[in-house]
Amino acid sequence: MPLAAVPGLRAALTTRAGGASRPPFEALNLGRSVGDAPGAVAANRRAVARALGFGALRTVRQVHGARLARLKAPAGRAPPADAILLDRPGVLGAVLGADCTLALLVEPRARVLVLVHAGWRGLAQGIGTAALRALLAAPGARRARVRALIASGICGACYETGPEVVDALAPTVPGAAHAACFAVPPGGRAHVDLRAVLTAQWLAAGLDAAQVHGLGGCTREEPARWFSHRRDGSPSGRHALVAGWQAP
Ligand SMILES: [Zn+2]
Repeated sequence: MPLAAVPGLRAALTTRAGGASRPPFEALNLGRSVGDAPGAVAANRRAVARALGFGALRTVRQVHGARLARLKAPAGRAPPADAILLDRPGVLGAVLGADCTLALLVEPRARVLVLVHAGWRGLAQGIGTAALRALLAAPGARRARVRALIASGICGACYETGPEVVDALAPTVPGAAHAACFAVPPGGRAHVDLRAVLTAQWLAAGLDAAQVHGLGGCTREEPARWFSHRRDGSPSGRHALVAGWQAP
């Protein structure tokens, strides 16, 4: 079942377009802690929530770990976490990113979803595996019904990094997936495809390749659509992957 056909599911990937923020945060910056005017960010968040039929947007305090927070109410504090589990109607969650991978797991029948913010540190701690495990722990959830979406992120060609990143990630994915995840030219800098790492963690945890979809693109290469820390440095805004279950 394609995500667009899942009853009650509302989900969107925001771009830079349509917000109130001024340069360098133009225009739909949803990050509160990047130096943008708080009033503009609040207006942007309200606009996104309203466009999807919700009253507010709930986020977490992203800390590049593998911890998951279950958010049960439409409003409240932002706990430290990099994944959000939603199983109640009326709550709209969002994970924010500039180059990090933003992804979504959905079990349509059990009506549970997990939003994932995955940078290399979170992936090294196994956030992909942890997010899927949490989803499957929901009452009635079945692995065969899971739909996974990798919505945005930086591509492997643009993500040049040090050997310590490869060393940290390699144990989290099977050896057969290493060629898709890592490129280390002799004497050169390493390139890591974070989206491939996340996909490999999900496949290793039992998802079928047909259950995982990617939207493609690259945050660094498309300045008109995406914020990118690699491209723009700091400060840089944040786009978001948002999702929730509609109230009946
Ligand atoms: Zn790229």
